[in-house]
Amino acid sequence: MKTLFEKIVAREIPAEIIYEDDLVLAIRDINPQAPTHVLIFPKKPVPRIAEAKVEDQNLLGHLLLKAAEVAKKLNLQNGYRLVINNGVDGGETVPHLHCHIFGGRHLTWPPG
Ligand code: 5GP
Repeated sequence: MKTLFEKIVAREIPAEIIYEDDLVLAIRDINPQAPTHVLIFPKKPVPRIAEAKVEDQNLLGHLLLKAAEVAKKLNLQNGYRLVINNGVDGGETVPHLHCHIFGGRHLTWPPG
């Protein structure tokens, strides 16, 4: 059974695609929590960061480097925040590893 994000990769569910390469896809979040709210995720369905394997090391590095590249492309030169929610207490709702890119407003700290 495909995850939601695998279905988006397969174009079975529409999304506004911001960036795509062989390994990752970046899309606008359907329920934005900031003026810019993008999700970037590996095409490989790693469920969450806690289940990433040593063999995913290059993929995870690529994901973060591309997150920074996407943030630059989206003109977030004043700053942005990358967030990975893990598990129930972390607020994870989609069990396919993804990194949120938030920007376009001043983000408060600590998060709720
Ligand atoms: P999580 O809560 O797992 O860290 O983040 C999941 C994110 O996926 C949420 O911010 C939610 O708004 C977003 N999301 C859920 N369903 C869809 C969808 O069908 N399309 C898009 N673009 N985003 C989605």
